[in-house]
Amino acid sequence: MKFSLRTKLSLSYISVVLISVLLLSVSANLLLDKHFKDYITENQARKNKEIAFQVQQQYKAGGQWDTESIGNICLNALKQGMIIKVVDAAGQVIWDARLHDNAQCEAMLAHIATNMSSRYPNWEGSYVENAFPIANESGEVGKVIIGYYGPYFFTDVDLAFINTMNRLLIGVGTFSLVLSFLFGSVMAKRLSTPISRVIATAKMIAKGYFDDRVTEPSNTKEIAELTETINNLAETLEKQELLRKRLTADVAHELRTPLATLQGQMEAMIDGIWEPDAERLKSCHEEIMRINRLVGDLEKLAKYESENLILTKTAFDLSELARQVIQNFENDFAQKGVKIEFSGEKETVVADKDKISQVLVNLLSNAQKYTQPGGTVQVAVKGSADIMKIVVKDNGQGIAPEDLPHIFERFYRADKSRNRLTGGAGIGLTITKAIIDAHQGKVEVRSQVGQGTEFIISLPKLV
Ligand code: ADP
Repeated sequence: MKFSLRTKLSLSYISVVLISVLLLSVSANLLLDKHFKDYITENQARKNKEIAFQVQQQYKAGGQWDTESIGNICLNALKQGMIIKVVDAAGQVIWDARLHDNAQCEAMLAHIATNMSSRYPNWEGSYVENAFPIANESGEVGKVIIGYYGPYFFTDVDLAFINTMNRLLIGVGTFSLVLSFLFGSVMAKRLSTPISRVIATAKMIAKGYFDDRVTEPSNTKEIAELTETINNLAETLEKQELLRKRLTADVAHELRTPLATLQGQMEAMIDGIWEPDAERLKSCHEEIMRINRLVGDLEKLAKYESENLILTKTAFDLSELARQVIQNFENDFAQKGVKIEFSGEKETVVADKDKISQVLVNLLSNAQKYTQPGGTVQVAVKGSADIMKIVVKDNGQGIAPEDLPHIFERFYRADKSRNRLTGGAGIGLTITKAIIDAHQGKVEVRSQVGQGTEFIISLPKLV
C-alpha cells in the first residue's frame, strides 16, 4: 500500500507529538506522584507536630485542660482528615473525636478512601495512629493521639491540584496534536506540491513534450536540485530532439542535389537524349562518389558526435604526430603549389592519438583546400606548463565574419558553390570540435577575408 508524502509527513508529525506528549505526561505524573507523596508525608509530619504543640498550649497549670479550645483544634484537624484523641497522664480521655462525632469521623475516612481509590484503584491504605507526648517543666502531662490514613492521603484540595495538572497536560497535548497536524499539513503541502509538479513535468517529457519546465521555486535544497535536474534533462532532450530533426533535414537536403543530378543524367541516357559515353558516366560516377563521401562523413560524425565519445588515451609526442600527418599531406600540398611549414619541439601529451590525428587531418585538408597556389600553411606545436597548443595558420581566402560563428555547425559551408566543387560537406570542423570538446580542450579561430585563417587548438596536457 502506498501513501502520499503528505499523509506520511502528517502522520509522522502526529506520531512524534503523540509520543512526546505521552512520554511527558507519564514522566510528569510519575515525578509528580513521587514528589507530591513526599510533600504530603512531610506536610503530615509538620501538621502532627503543630497540633501536638497547639494542644500542649491548652494545658493550664494545676492539671486543667481548656477542652473547648482543644475541641476546636481537633474539629479543625478532623476537617483535614485527622482523628484526634487527647488523654492526660493517667490515660483519662480529655477529648476524643470519635466520642464527639463518630459518624463524622467515619464519613471523613470513607471520603478519603474514595479520594484515594479514585486516583489509585489498587490503593490499600491503612489507618495509622501516632502518639505525641505533651510535656511541661514537671514532665509528661498527657498525649495527643493523631489517627489518619497512612502512609499518606490526599485531601480534596490535593486531589484538585493533581487533577488540574492532568487536565493541563491533556490540554497542552491536544493543542500540540492539533498544531502538529496543521503544521504537518502545511509542510507536507509545501514539499509535495513541487514534487508533484516535477512528476507532472517528467510525465510530459516521457510523452515527448520537451518544452515543459518546472517553474515553481523551492527553498528546499533537494527539491530545488531535483527541479533543476529535471529542467536540465528536459533542455538536453529538447536540444537532442532539435538536433535529430535538423540532422534528418540536413541529410535529406545534402542528398537531394547529387541524387537529382544523377537521376536527371540517368534518365537522359535512358531516354536516349544523351549518349552514355565515358565523360557522362564519369560525371555520374563523381556524383556517386560525392554521395559516398557524404555517407562516410555522416558515419564519422555519428561516431565522433555521439555524446559518450570514448577516448583511448596514451602519452605521445604531439610534434611527432603533426610531422607524420604533414608528411601524408606533402604530396597534395606540392601538387597544389602550397608551401607547408612546421615548427615545434618534442611535447608529450596524454590524449587519444587517432582522434587528435583526425583533427590535424581535418585542419590541414581545409588549409590546403582554401589556400590558393603560392600560399603557405604554417603548423606549430607549442607547449606550456599544462596546456598544449596546435596552431594551423594559412594565408588563404579567409572566412567572412558572418560565417565565422557558424563554421563548427554541421553541414555549414561558408561558400556553398565553391565548396560543392571542393567536395566538403561541412562536417570536418564539427568533428574537430567534438573531438576537442571530449578532451576538455577548446578550438579558436581567427580569420580575415583575403588574409588567411588561423585555427588554435588548446589541449590540457593531462586529461
Ligand atoms: P568542409 O568539409 O566544407 O571543409 P568544414 O566543417 O571543414 O567543412 O568547414 C566548414 C567551412 O568553414 C568550410 O566550408 C569553409 O567555408 C570554412 N573553412 C574551414 N577552414 C577554412 C580555412 N582554412 N580557410 C577558409 N575557410 C575555411
